[in-house]
Amino acid sequence: GGENNEGGYAYYSEEMNRNTLDLLRIETGLLHAFEYNELLLYYQPKVDMATGSITGAEALVRWQHPERGLLLPGEFIPIAEETGLIVQLSDWVLDAVCRQARAWKEAGLAPIRIALNVTAREFTRSLPDRIRAALSRHMLSGDWLELEITESMLMHSTDRVITIMEKVCSLGITISLDDFGTGYSSLSYLKRFPINTLKIDRSFTMGIPEDTNDCAIASAIIGIAKQLRHKVIAEGVETEKQFNFLKDAGCNELQGYIFSRPVPATDFHAMLLEGRRL
Ligand code: C2E
Ligand code: CA
Ligand code: CA
Ligand code: CA
Repeated sequence: GGENNEGGYAYYSEEMNRNTLDLLRIETGLLHAFEYNELLLYYQPKVDMATGSITGAEALVRWQHPERGLLLPGEFIPIAEETGLIVQLSDWVLDAVCRQARAWKEAGLAPIRIALNVTAREFTRSLPDRIRAALSRHMLSGDWLELEITESMLMHSTDRVITIMEKVCSLGITISLDDFGTGYSSLSYLKRFPINTLKIDRSFTMGIPEDTNDCAIASAIIGIAKQLRHKVIAEGVETEKQFNFLKDAGCNELQGYIFSRPVPATDFHAMLLEGRRL
């Protein structure tokens, strides 16, 4: 290697680290993925703890890679974020969720909320209009959708964020605060935002019931949610002990392997038709 530009920057040195090449390879691959329809959505049920029945689902993106098999978001979302492709990816997810919801509606299902993960980067002024356009393109009402946002989004330009959230809510869409407790939310902030649900992060659920700190944090989050009249859901629930603890503590819903892993759309539809319960 060793070809330098004027600034003395080595373009093709050995330093052209693997990371850059990996990044390029995945970026090119992702562009290919859009073109050749290699992205797909899995759905993980959300379950009411009192009745054991399905209340909704979270849509989780997957990439059916031609050589590497089914890739999890951890393997490509960070790169999509770095390269800016996350915008295109999010548009794809929004459209794909609406298309699926429309198909379920046509199949006779009553509205059930499908949650989308929204990153800080796409939480912009244009988001409400993009969602509105997607809903109308697929002739859907907002009660089919939920947005999962993270608390880091609540920290900056508060008024701007509140305006966006209010527009989203006016479409009949609910908002839940994902990975709650892992960021730096100031509790006084919480009441200012039109949020429906707090989502207890899996890192806390995991330690229940052995880790007394995790138990205390989970209980505290449930307490805060009750005080603010928000719903509260625990993610990553795997065991009966976790279920019992959270239910006794007053948690409303759960999401986790104890009920189901994320599954393809047809499997989720089948669970709904079966009326499957925990
Ligand atoms: P997340 O939003 O916290 O999603 C929950 C993750 O926990 C999912 O991983 C899910 O499969 C996993 N999970 C659920 N229940 C259990 C359980 O009982 N045990 C264990 N061990 N894991 C459980 P997944 O699908 O790999 O997604 C990882 C992350 O990627 C998500 O974390 C989310 O931040 C991001 N992501 C997924 N889909 C999208 C998307 O469409 N757009 C964006 N922007 N991000 C996405
Ligand atoms: Ca999520
Ligand atoms: Ca989460
Ligand atoms: Ca999480």
